[in-house]
Amino acid sequence: MRLLVVEDDIDVAQDLARALQGAGFIVDTAGDGETAWFKGSTEDYAAVVLDLGLPKLDGLSVLKRWRSAQRDFPVLIVSARSDWTEKVDGIEAGADDYLGKPFQIPELVARVRALLRRAAGHASPAIEVGKLVLDTSRMSATWAGRPVRLSQLEFRFLHYLAHHAGCPISAGELAEHLYGASDTNDSNAIEALVVRLRRKIGPDVIETRRGFGYALAQNGA
Ligand code: CA
Repeated sequence: MRLLVVEDDIDVAQDLARALQGAGFIVDTAGDGETAWFKGSTEDYAAVVLDLGLPKLDGLSVLKRWRSAQRDFPVLIVSARSDWTEKVDGIEAGADDYLGKPFQIPELVARVRALLRRAAGHASPAIEVGKLVLDTSRMSATWAGRPVRLSQLEFRFLHYLAHHAGCPISAGELAEHLYGASDTNDSNAIEALVVRLRRKIGPDVIETRRGFGYALAQNGA
């Protein structure tokens, strides 16, 4: 899944990006409010980590603009200003969570994961689709009760499909979320990934919906 980290302190932005990449996410960064507004308006993010004190356009204004433009990804505000009135402003502007600086990076990663689970309507770290169960905190999976060994890429692929259970996802969109950018080679890579997963878990776990893309089997075939 693809995240946007908005932070003007380059060191902090790099630390956050590294930690989130380590947790299996694709991470874009923006160092000022205008770039953030542009990226969030044109790209498809699963969630956004947003600093409030930003050059060019402050974080709260960016958030308000996104929300009035119907950009509804979950947003976690991080801010050095731990003034409670600012928390209230942030939440009223449409933030989903708020973390005061300084914070521990593992806490930020855990909160991002929790936001994504809530956005997908899952309250617990396990996501179940048919016979497939994904444990998002351990990045492990079981199929029909049996543990399945997955690479990080394979886990992210299944997680993305599970997050959109029931809707077929195109190879292009999957490539964008797994590799950060999409080109024609990536569609072939996605096809190869599907073949590999079907060999590992079984032929029925991932359905091909001709003309639409891939989806997880809902009935646990
Ligand atoms: Ca800042």
